[in-house]
Amino acid sequence: MSKSADSKTSEHTLRRDMVETCRRMNASGINQGTSGNLSARCGDGFLITPSSLAYDAMKPHDIMRMAFDGSYEGEHRPSSEWRFHRDILRARSDVNVVLHCHSVYATTLACQHRMIPAFHYMVGVAGGTTIRCARYATFGTQALSDAALEALDDRLACLLGQHGQIALGNSLGAALWLAIEVETLARIYVQALPLGTPPVLDDAEMARVLDQMRRMSYGQMPEPEGSNDVARPKGKQKAG
Ligand code: 13P
Ligand code: ZN
Repeated sequence: MSKSADSKTSEHTLRRDMVETCRRMNASGINQGTSGNLSARCGDGFLITPSSLAYDAMKPHDIMRMAFDGSYEGEHRPSSEWRFHRDILRARSDVNVVLHCHSVYATTLACQHRMIPAFHYMVGVAGGTTIRCARYATFGTQALSDAALEALDDRLACLLGQHGQIALGNSLGAALWLAIEVETLARIYVQALPLGTPPVLDDAEMARVLDQMRRMSYGQMPEPEGSNDVARPKGKQKAG
């Protein structure tokens, strides 16, 4: 197969997988209706869901192709949030996928402008000791994109004040996994709060957690060179 035929096939596969991921967002309960949106790096630009199109009705050819200068190709308008998708993919070479949704518990905290502290060790899967909440800005604006980028500094997820959440990943599956994890943590936190302010793991413990996650390639943490002290299946050279 020629190089261009090859890249057309992989773009088609990516479009199909994006539609499937959007449907899974709704089926998993982390999103509803036409809220939320999804983008994935593709060639020298990215693919992004169209604005206000029901995921059930969405077909691979409905996914829009955008360039980093904001120009686009496709039958629809790109997601109203194309600015934060573009800006995150441009600024973060470590991620290929941006997923945004209005999951109920994460949005409940975001409506109170509350971040998720290290009340549970799994907060570390978002890359740090907290999952921050970005300041409020009108949907679809550059101000929202700027606020999101700030809240995502050194992180793979954040809440968006009075709006929802963003999860990043190397792949569609990883971003969906993280969005569901953020929602689960938000749910546990919201349930724990009425019982009294939950204690928070201190920075030293969270440093151990983050190190352990890196060593075990837990979630999306990269495994560092030379890691050799975690259990591995028989016959494998590298720790798993
Ligand atoms: P779009 O349908 O334009 O992607 O908007 C949904 C949304 O969640 C806006 O923040
Ligand atoms: Zn939204």
